[in-house]
Amino acid sequence: MIERSAVKILVLDDESFMLKLLSRILSNLGFTSVILCDSGRAALDQIGGADGGPNLILLDLNMPEMDGIEFVRHLVGRHYTGSLILVSGEDERILQTAEKLVQAHKIPILGHLHKPVKPETLSALLETWTSPSVDRPRAAKKIYGADELRAAIDRGELVNYYQPKVAVASGEVVGVETLVRWRHPVDGVVFPDQFIGLAEASGMIDDLTQAVFTEAVTQAKAWQQARLALRVAVNVSMDNLSSLNFLNFVAELVEKVGVAPQDMTLEVTESRLMQDTRAPLEILTRLRLKRFRLSIDDFGTGHSSLAQLRDIPFDELKIDQGFVHHAWTDETLRAMYDASLSLARQLGMEVVAEGVEDRNDWDLLHRTGCDLAQGVFMSRPMLAADLPGWIEGWRERVRNERLIQANNEMTQ
Ligand code: C2E
Ligand code: CA
Ligand code: CA
Repeated sequence: MIERSAVKILVLDDESFMLKLLSRILSNLGFTSVILCDSGRAALDQIGGADGGPNLILLDLNMPEMDGIEFVRHLVGRHYTGSLILVSGEDERILQTAEKLVQAHKIPILGHLHKPVKPETLSALLETWTSPSVDRPRAAKKIYGADELRAAIDRGELVNYYQPKVAVASGEVVGVETLVRWRHPVDGVVFPDQFIGLAEASGMIDDLTQAVFTEAVTQAKAWQQARLALRVAVNVSMDNLSSLNFLNFVAELVEKVGVAPQDMTLEVTESRLMQDTRAPLEILTRLRLKRFRLSIDDFGTGHSSLAQLRDIPFDELKIDQGFVHHAWTDETLRAMYDASLSLARQLGMEVVAEGVEDRNDWDLLHRTGCDLAQGVFMSRPMLAADLPGWIEGWRERVRNERLIQANNEMTQ
């Protein structure tokens, strides 16, 4: 049971009437530690402070200056660790879409409320909530300092995990994505959302990416020598693309190790791609000229225009996991999934669906002709040593569970 008065709730709405109404409802429910903000900017000042900021935000989607969706993007940038409830006068469909966008950013969402807000609905939402950050203070998400990360990179505590990318039509494993983890001597395995932002903010991202890339290329070579033809993808931060450093580094390294650049894929996140301008685009184009494969990651969460996509010669488009899992049953997700797939087709890119979590997701990909699948339905990220064994098991599953026949039979 959580102590309601200890839970910090922030209410963000541009209408002062709504602020008063919501704070009254909350206080009647026993939530007395409530901060009211009438603009996104004022609310952002409350996030990530020394006291840890709010545990829950009630967010109005329609605000004049900074709307709710933009606010969510700032929350991600500030590594907000609390939960969210969306509030809006818009129709159900818009609220649902907004909810998916928030989920894509991995912020826990309790649900959405229609205006006018009814006390019983808000109360019911709050009943379902066990505030994670209040129940388990700090232990869950520790904040690390730049010095600690620096030492970790130097001591080689960063380890690459690899998650398979599988061709949907044939069931074949055609590549892997490298996902870095920090094997912390005390805290155990630390996930990248806890240190990539720090590396970017403190000027260490070049060193981090170089370490990850070096291990990945070496591994790619080892797999080739073991007759495993796998393309290896590495995540690249936009900050890596602001100077020629990274370009020169990767070009020289693949040459030295003896791996063809077209066997290495560089994944760049869509949301950050379109904020920055010339320098990164030029460097991406030059990487492409050097025959590296380029992939646009988390597609659907940013706002790239068709023109921008056409300008940068991407080889691959990854549909964000927020639009894949459950797209077989949810029509809003399905619309985003279909649109992304057909856009990629028109621009001649290979399509990867991320977040394939179960058989239903897999079957949708199969039916719609998506090229590649990635997600826990196949496998979670694993250590390189575990991959050959996993591939054997997967091939057996493809046969036993008839993963590539199912749809042909259905259409016949
Ligand atoms: P991403 O590039 O979108 O990577 C996919 C994330 O989804 C991974 O989280 C992966 O473990 C997770 N995932 C895999 N299968 C499923 C599934 O079926 N369902 C769901 N819901 N999630 C799944 P992870 O490893 O925690 O990485 C988080 C993010 O950190 C990555 O997102 C990537 O943006 C970033 N990252 C990881 N490694 C690096 C790196 O070496 N350099 C940089 N710059 N960023 C990295
Ligand atoms: Ca990625
Ligand atoms: Ca992604």
